[in-house]
Formats: sequence, C-alpha cells, structure tokens
Amino acid sequence: MLNSVSEAVFNYYGNPSSIHRCGSESRDQIENARQQVASALGAKPTEIIFTSGGTEANNIALADVNARFAKIISAVEHSSIFNLTRSLPKGSATSVARVNKDGTLNLEDLKSILSTVKAEGFIVSVMLANNETGVILDPEGDLLKLKEEYGFLLHLDAVQGFGKLPINLSDLNVDMLSVSAHKLHGLKGAGALFVRERLQRQSYPDPLFLGGSHESNFRPGTENLMGILSLGYMAEKMSSDRHYKGRLGDIKAKRDWFETELADISQINGSKENRIDNTSNLYFPEISELNLFLEILSERNLCVSGQSACSSGLAEPSRVLTEMFGVESPVPKGSIRFSLSVDTTQEEMVEAVSIIREAIGFYKEVKEVMK
Ligand code: PLP
Repeated sequence: MLNSVSEAVFNYYGNPSSIHRCGSESRDQIENARQQVASALGAKPTEIIFTSGGTEANNIALADVNARFAKIISAVEHSSIFNLTRSLPKGSATSVARVNKDGTLNLEDLKSILSTVKAEGFIVSVMLANNETGVILDPEGDLLKLKEEYGFLLHLDAVQGFGKLPINLSDLNVDMLSVSAHKLHGLKGAGALFVRERLQRQSYPDPLFLGGSHESNFRPGTENLMGILSLGYMAEKMSSDRHYKGRLGDIKAKRDWFETELADISQINGSKENRIDNTSNLYFPEISELNLFLEILSERNLCVSGQSACSSGLAEPSRVLTEMFGVESPVPKGSIRFSLSVDTTQEEMVEAVSIIREAIGFYKEVKEVMK
C-alpha cells in the first residue's frame, strides 16, 4: 500500500514498460491503480485507459479519426468536447442539442436530431454534471431509454460527476466515460477513459497519438505514474472510505446554508434539485461588471470563478449561462460559480458570505465613482 507521493517518487522510478524488476514494480502499481479506478466505477480493469486528464479522455472518445459516427453533444459541454467537435473534418458532422432554462438536457431537441439527421451511427456525448452550474443534465436517466430506442453509442463526461454522484457501470449501459484525477483532489494531469469491452472489440476509439502499444494500444506514451497512482488512491478513498464519504455528504448542508444566507441578493442558476452538492452558481442582479467584482473578491481572498477565462485573462460571458438564459439576458454578466470541497469548513462559508456582502457594497461605491 502506497502512503505518499514521495514514497512513489523514490520507489517507483522504473519505466512501467521495462521488463526488469524496477519496471515491473512500477507496472504493478499502475495495475493496482487501474483496479482501484475500475472498482470505483463498477468496470473491468481492462476497460480503463489512463490519459493525461479529462480533456484527453474526451478527445479520445470523440475524435473518431476514421469518421465512423455522427456526433450529438449538448450545448453546455466542456470546451474539450465543444471545441473538439467543432474542429472535426466534414463527414463527422456534429449536432448540438439544446438545454432547458434549468440547465437539464432538452430531450425533445435530442429526439428530433436523432430522428431527422441521417447517419450510419451516432455517438451522443453528454456531461454527467455541468462544470459551471453543477446541474445534472439527465436526472431521470432518459438517455439510457433513448439509447435503447435509437441504438447510439453513449459517452458521458463524468469529470465533474465522479465522486459526487454514484456511478456503477456494471448496470449503466454507457459505452465510454471520462474522469479526471484533480477533481477528486488527485494530481493534476491524470485521468482515465472507460471504454466498454464490446466497443474495444470493434476497434473503437482510435488512438490520438502515434507511438507504442501502451494502454492497450489506445494511448501511447510512458504513463504518468504519480498522477495515475493519485487517481487510483482517491478513487478508492472516495468509494470505500466511510469517513471520507461522510465528509462528502456534509458539503450539501454548507452549500445550501450559503445560498439561503445570500437569497436576498442573489438567485440560483440552474435546477436547484438536480445538482451536484458542491457547486453553487449565483446571479447577483446588482453586478453587471463581472471582472471588477471578481477582482474585488480576489483581493479579499475569495477564490471563485466567473466564467471560462479567455486568452486575455478576462472573464467572457459564460457560454453555458448564455445557452440557458439567452444572449440578451443579464444573468451571464453577473453570475459567479462557487465550488466547495471536502475541506471547506462552515467557518469559511460564514466568512465567504460576509466578504460577498462587503464586496457588493464596495463594488457599488467604485461604480458610483466611475460614473
Ligand atoms: N470536462 C469537464 C466537465 C470539466 O469540468 C473539465 C475540467 O474542469 C474537463 C472535462 C477537463 O478535464 P482536465 O482538466 O483534467 O483536462
């Protein structure tokens, strides 16, 4: 049993692909991590492909180098899906299914795409929970029923959902699923793609890199041992450590308390019921210059996000909130995402509320001076 990253650094320097003793010790560690991730997901170890993170897992799942499938994604997918599918060559056409105002998947739109677009086969890729709002896109499991009816391949981007929602792939008819270590407090730069055995037998997905035969030929390159071990370790901790699971359960109470405290000056974006417990996306009607407000909060040590950062480092109006509320809506320009972790304390939440209230007062003063 490995206790720390430093232990791994000093003991497992052998290349896992080398056949000498040092290499096979590293290999054993990787296979142990594969087993840990597989059992946390209810999958077989041979169905887990280690990657450099959620972005790469999503890219491998959807790049479809030989253009065998048409793609359908939701309008609020992470940029690693959204931008990838926009760059695919002709013949891999992607349709985008809308979301409802509460951020859940618009099933009617999906059905209409499935019935009107002509293609040999489809891959539908939908995130389990949205990274900005925390909304669970398919809370009733309708995608699985549609999959039975239309026979598409289903990929779930579970980067935000893994560890916060139960996932048991032994009775969930999903073909591919992406996870990332850093969302579980593992190391950044490691992740995994689950690929169902029957899909692997059809030689899908295609590897994105050219190289050796690592990761069952799906992902060449010497494995990121430390990152992989951190993913395996956290996956096991999260799924079988009762104390840790209890701490995960406490997050919701703190998040709900926080939202109630701010209810007079904010509104919750997205479905209140169908959300993962650690995310709160709030619209503050008094805020119209998000970058200014974020700067004020950051100066007061409250590390929160507006939307995705563009190349200039400034927050752009959120694509996700714009999809939900429309381009004319003020919501994307005045909304902030708050993320809690197992380590967030109630004292910190109390402090966050008072910082936000004071920051709004200061924001209004600055705006007054700028008039
Ligand atoms: N998918 C979702 C829903 C995410 O939130 C993220 C990262 O935040 C990713 C994919 C990309 O994962 P990674 O940062 O490991 O590349």
